[in-house]
Amino acid sequence: MPMKCKTDCGKNAILKRPKTGDALCRQCFFWAFETEVHNTVTAAGLFKRGQYVAVAASGGKDSTVLAHVMKELNERYDYGLRLVLLSIDEGITGYRDDSLETVKRNRDQYGLPLTVLSYHDLYGWTMDDIVRQVGLRNNCTFCGVFRRQALDRGAALLGVDQIVTGHNADDIAETVIMNVLRGDIARLQRCTAICTGTEGSIPRSKPFKYTYEKEIVMYAYFKKLDYFSTECIYSPNAYRGHARAFLKDLEAIRATSIIDIIHSGESLAVRDAARLPAQGTCTRCGYISSQAVCKACVLLEGLNQGQPRLGIGKCSKVRERLQQARREVGPGDALKAGETLPPAAGVRRSGDADGGQTAGPWPPSETSRADRPHNTATGAARCCGGAGACIADGACARDIP
Ligand code: SF4
Ligand code: ZN
Repeated sequence: MPMKCKTDCGKNAILKRPKTGDALCRQCFFWAFETEVHNTVTAAGLFKRGQYVAVAASGGKDSTVLAHVMKELNERYDYGLRLVLLSIDEGITGYRDDSLETVKRNRDQYGLPLTVLSYHDLYGWTMDDIVRQVGLRNNCTFCGVFRRQALDRGAALLGVDQIVTGHNADDIAETVIMNVLRGDIARLQRCTAICTGTEGSIPRSKPFKYTYEKEIVMYAYFKKLDYFSTECIYSPNAYRGHARAFLKDLEAIRATSIIDIIHSGESLAVRDAARLPAQGTCTRCGYISSQAVCKACVLLEGLNQGQPRLGIGKCSKVRERLQQARREVGPGDALKAGETLPPAAGVRRSGDADGGQTAGPWPPSETSRADRPHNTATGAARCCGGAGACIADGACARDIP
């Protein structure tokens, strides 16, 4: 005999909620799922009426469900938000190009405007190019750093008040475990925060902070949402994979493990000595950074110098070289207009016979910026001389406040 829905609505249950074990019918599951997200949003006071909010949209299940639920809750509870989809095209053939097609369909299905920024336009490199250069070992380091900055640049370009991302409870619990295993205690204090980036950068929120991944999949399935489910073709990310496998093993023994780990992360007290470094701005691109030169600029410099491994790891020789160069030219002026860092031994430059790639003059002089057409879609020269500071559609990162 079929099981009845736990809510006494009279309908037959069609699923058992992974989070609570409750047997629910389809409509009661939708209601429970959406109400919990609404409660998370209101308890944390995530939004203010009238805010312009970008939904980071990849076409995957999390961001597709997030866009759907944000639109639904915005209308049902009259949040008064203006929503927009913001996507980053990493330039991964056979993965991101297909998932962006899904985002474009979501744009039409949900009636939300969509902006897409690409790594190629922002940095002059696609992930396909980067993987050709660095291989499959450290590619996610480049991708993660560039995507974080790309989202912020896109958000600044759109003028949004905040970004919401589809990070779910499983993602956050994995990050807690990874930070504990790596001894990255300073990051532990912010990895469970529902809203980050308030000190100087555009705030980012995670409305799915307490939402289980399994329930997101169920919601997408029963709602028949249009999402892209293929894994990235460059997805080794072995460390997170181990944390994920560990979490799944724990969950099989104790269903509340995910929420328990998040609560543990929230409750951990961090000594003052382990506080995060103070935030400033990158002397190269103006992006928020705890170092004089941000990680994205360091990685980009390594790529452009033909020595991508230099930008990886904490003791980056590139960062040392950038800082040394800045010391030599004086504070507040990383390099004189038209200058670049001297190439390291064996480094390929754009004029080299083998066509190596280089950043070009940095920062560009006012004259050279004025002379050079912005942007890239057409392959035109960039205002930043190809160093990756341009943003699509006529804006330049250096012009963004
Ligand atoms: Fe980028 Fe790595 Fe994620 Fe692929 S798996 S999208 S390369 S971070
Ligand atoms: Zn920078």
